[in-house]
Amino acid sequence: MKPPILLPFIALLILSACAEQANPELNIYSSRKEALIKPVLDQFTAATGIEVNLVTGKDDALIERLRAEGAASPADVLITVDAGRLYRAKAQGLTQAINSTVVTQAIPATYRDPDNHWFGLSLRARPIMYAKDRVDPSTLTDYASITAQQWQGKVCIRSSSNIYNQSLVASMIASEGVEAVETWAAGVVNNFARQPVGGDRDQIKAVAAGQCDLAVANTYYLFGMLQSDDAAEVAAAEQVAVFWPNQADRGTHVNVSGIAVTKAAKNRDHAQQLLEFLVQAEAQSWYANANGEYPVTADIEAHPLLAAWGDFKKDALNLSRLGELNPEAVKIMDRAGWP
Ligand code: FE
Repeated sequence: MKPPILLPFIALLILSACAEQANPELNIYSSRKEALIKPVLDQFTAATGIEVNLVTGKDDALIERLRAEGAASPADVLITVDAGRLYRAKAQGLTQAINSTVVTQAIPATYRDPDNHWFGLSLRARPIMYAKDRVDPSTLTDYASITAQQWQGKVCIRSSSNIYNQSLVASMIASEGVEAVETWAAGVVNNFARQPVGGDRDQIKAVAAGQCDLAVANTYYLFGMLQSDDAAEVAAAEQVAVFWPNQADRGTHVNVSGIAVTKAAKNRDHAQQLLEFLVQAEAQSWYANANGEYPVTADIEAHPLLAAWGDFKKDALNLSRLGELNPEAVKIMDRAGWP
């Protein structure tokens, strides 16, 4: 009786193996805009023959979609920004481990999940930015500098609902403890130039416009303004400089854009091939430059515009801690009255 029962099963196996060989593919959900990822995916296709289907969307919406689709999700890979968010995707059971020595040797341990569920692809820093004509940078030292009396009514920073601020505060909790960060958050709120409004780019523009003297923003926004086709944006960006906080101790807070292979992935091997492709020097260099970010792998030069802001000490905290401490960070900003 055995052969007749097994035969259709074997036939099915052969069929699906043929189907895979005939049309290897990889399905990606990405919060990166198509123009900022598609060219490197095209290179991947050219190198491997694996067709990539790209779906772009907002970060949290893509994670929600993955969750709603469950095991039936067509997505093999999630590309999104902020370790806090990648941590959330893992915590919700939406990702799986990829154990590749190519990847783990290329990406420093700090910038990937300890269980290899997600990996940083590019690096961004969240420094203090200041008005060149009104701020003497020698008066600044660390993130606590923005709470000094002299900057009362002079600080612009976006809402606490934004994950970039949540991750910054989480990094501070890791190094200074809840009590110190509680005091810091109250000091920031006390120095608000205005109620938080807009994104990081808006905070930089507000510094240029004289609405505030100091802001906290991600580096690629200033890069983007400096590279803008809009002369007014370039002019605004040129009035603003970067100050790297905490150089004498833990270093400036950094975060990543990153990638995870989904739990539901049907093309897991292709996904691993993409990961291994993206940590190669050429792909790293292109991807970082396209997004105004720093490469995540060692020994690759940053874009000259970024390099011009100087080398800086980066916080060496494992970025998965940002996810672990996220709820505490949200509570602290809430208690401080940070909208
Ligand atoms: Fe952003």
